[in-house]
Amino acid sequence: MPRIYLSPPHISPEGYEQEYVAQAFASNWIAPLGAFVDRFEEELAVLTHRRGGAALSSGTAAIHLALRSCGLEPGDKVLSSSFTFAATCNPIIYEQGLPVFIDSEYTSWNIDPDLVEQALAEGKKSGKQAKALLAVSLYGQAANLPRLSELCDYYGVALIDEATEALGASIAGRPCGSFGKFGVLSFNGNKIITTSGGGALVADDLEALAKIRFWATQSRDPAPHYQHSELGFNYRLSNICAAIGCGQLQVLSRHLAARQAVFHRYSEGFQAVPAIEMMPRYGEPNHWLSVITFTPESRVTPQKVAAALAAEDIESRPAWKPMNLQPYWGKYPFYSRSASGSVGADLFARGLCLPSGSALSQEDQDKIIAIVTACCTGSEPS
Ligand SMILES: *Cc1c(COP(=O)(O)O)cnc(C)c1O
Repeated sequence: MPRIYLSPPHISPEGYEQEYVAQAFASNWIAPLGAFVDRFEEELAVLTHRRGGAALSSGTAAIHLALRSCGLEPGDKVLSSSFTFAATCNPIIYEQGLPVFIDSEYTSWNIDPDLVEQALAEGKKSGKQAKALLAVSLYGQAANLPRLSELCDYYGVALIDEATEALGASIAGRPCGSFGKFGVLSFNGNKIITTSGGGALVADDLEALAKIRFWATQSRDPAPHYQHSELGFNYRLSNICAAIGCGQLQVLSRHLAARQAVFHRYSEGFQAVPAIEMMPRYGEPNHWLSVITFTPESRVTPQKVAAALAAEDIESRPAWKPMNLQPYWGKYPFYSRSASGSVGADLFARGLCLPSGSALSQEDQDKIIAIVTACCTGSEPS
């Protein structure tokens, strides 16, 4: 039996990706740029209701350049979701900024807007306001972006809509990636669509995007020789990767429907298991990963269930370990409602991500449901 992965790449059965890559080879536009990069950027902008996009080598690179574009300078504060993957906040340190972490709310599992408001009000009072807010839509479920966007507008802080896991999700009728100064996307191998590795910024500010493309290609001034008036980066996406991305976009809506079906089958499968709760549905999620939590009364641990799945060669993962609990990040300021615990710590202690790929078969999913149920009820899987 082949191993069942959490979220493996899913190439279209029609072979759009290979076809476009072959076209890129035929035109000899292997690199650095080319027609597929332009097309990919245009299609991403349309999907996220933005005026433009910049295709980059990773989501992390996109966050890095977004922060530079917000004018981040050494010592400047950046507010960030704490319950996230470290790629969200690593770029703050690349620019010697000061991360300020904010706990989640149970409603969306994402950054708590009341705590954001508190941090912004304190920032204003202290005269040292944050330069940006990195609001993550984790597991493809929107943060309360409408409210966060109002708060950021009121306090004059740049909102970065960190939608690396949320392509195709939306809230209040607006897609994730469409809020604030920048939307950030990732096309890493495990995301809802992949370019093998890649990312993008989408925005309405075309001038800012032009500057980002300039920085991403080593800041080469327009001159016949190599002339540089600014620090540069090698962060552009190649035409080959963009060709894969254009192929994947052809089947994005199918991937979204498949992930949603996976989520609904888990919901049904676990309906009669009192120890298990599905993650809440907030906005219109893309259901990138289906995450379950075990009730505190059940005393079932994610570790135990993960071990039972691993014994059957099935991959699962604990929920993200929040930044405030990380050895490297724990030293930075952290806002939460209670001094004794946090929402992120609770979700980390009780949460488990189950295989959620868009190509997951119904039989495989039934097997997963049986194993997880058996762990929670003490019975043998049938
Ligand atoms: C995947 C991911 C990123 C970074 O994307 P890369 O393309 O892998 O650099 C950032 N934040 C979160 C929450 C992610 O899941």
